[in-house]
Amino acid sequence: MRRTLLPDLVLDARGVRSGVGVAIEGGRVVEVGPATEGERLPGRALAPGFVNAHSHAFQRRLRGSVERRDPEHPRDDFWSWRERMYALAEGLDPASVREAGGRCYREMLSAGYTSVAEFHYLHHRPDGRPYADPNAMAKAVAEAAESAGMRLLLLPAAYARGGIPRFRDASVEDFLGRVEELRSWARERPLVEVGIAAHSVRAVPAGWLEEIGAYARERGLPLHVHACEQPREVEECRKEHGMRPVELLARTGFLGPKTVVVHATHAGEDELDLLAEHGSEVCACPTTEGNLGDGFLPAEGILRRGVGLSIGSDSHVRVDPFEELREIETNARRLAGRRNVLVAEGELSPAPWLLRAGWGREGISAGDPADLVEIDLGHPALADVAPEDLPSALVFGAGSDVVCGAWVAGRRVYPGEGR
Ligand SMILES: [Zn+2]
Repeated sequence: MRRTLLPDLVLDARGVRSGVGVAIEGGRVVEVGPATEGERLPGRALAPGFVNAHSHAFQRRLRGSVERRDPEHPRDDFWSWRERMYALAEGLDPASVREAGGRCYREMLSAGYTSVAEFHYLHHRPDGRPYADPNAMAKAVAEAAESAGMRLLLLPAAYARGGIPRFRDASVEDFLGRVEELRSWARERPLVEVGIAAHSVRAVPAGWLEEIGAYARERGLPLHVHACEQPREVEECRKEHGMRPVELLARTGFLGPKTVVVHATHAGEDELDLLAEHGSEVCACPTTEGNLGDGFLPAEGILRRGVGLSIGSDSHVRVDPFEELREIETNARRLAGRRNVLVAEGELSPAPWLLRAGWGREGISAGDPADLVEIDLGHPALADVAPEDLPSALVFGAGSDVVCGAWVAGRRVYPGEGR
């Protein structure tokens, strides 16, 4: 059934328009243009849904509880946080993963994220033996997204060494066998796509990176990896391989146009050059990176080289796309001692570049999935904001509570039809 939504404003990276209808049919946007007939959305702006390009849904359970020192480890840092995260991961099973996922994805929809890339490494029983269905945990995550109405890119992540036993597969063949099975399971699930990931250069050896990179390339799959999050990780990589993490990814054939490098906090200039050369993208997770004391995104270097950027709420210390985008620019300002730093060529404000990073697209166009968010123009945070300033006001002056509706594949999933 074709329906036309008539908000007060349509907002995308090209600007703000009024008198525009968005026609949707079969889960997709089929037309965007002048319209007077349709379903009115009074007091609303319609914008593309945000893409959460990096999530570990179960880590949401750490919220609040890790914000104090453990007397045993008075020097709290990424590595001591990781121990707390492992302790949480030890105790989960498919049912609790489904429940944690559901809660996390519902919160994301309420904040304006309409799709999520779930970087999933919680694979096996606590002692490392596979479940009767070796993909039971991954399927529990996928079902949580489906029942929340969230679009999901499921990224089974390879783990060979370190961590805890339930993260690890015995061989890369075992891991790829599970990915293969998961892909055929997901084939009939319209909201679920399966990609692939390697956890990090510390969790898998170079041979695994080669195999996984080749598998993804041959099948055109999205391919994700954590890299350059912490200085210690960079040092360990140099010791083992004589090169830095992104250099290792390039050498092993892991980098390509569908590769997303998560964090890249400590990526050097040469590593950013390699990302640009291979057309790979960086996913920034500033609220998590700030919470963990990781450091600052080299955002100016990313912008200057035209490297693609996306955002993720990662550990879910906060679930708010506006806050992720704002942190990218305000951190760049702190580092540069200037204002309006991340301005793309031909533009005057950082807002369009940041919003494109948040949406993963330019705006609402015919052919796009009908994944949309409604912005409450009557919200106090947006009072007295001129329409042309709305994109910047969202990035710099608003939080996720301005989101009052979310649509996925043409269906209103937050707060839900009829509410
Ligand atoms: Zn992560």
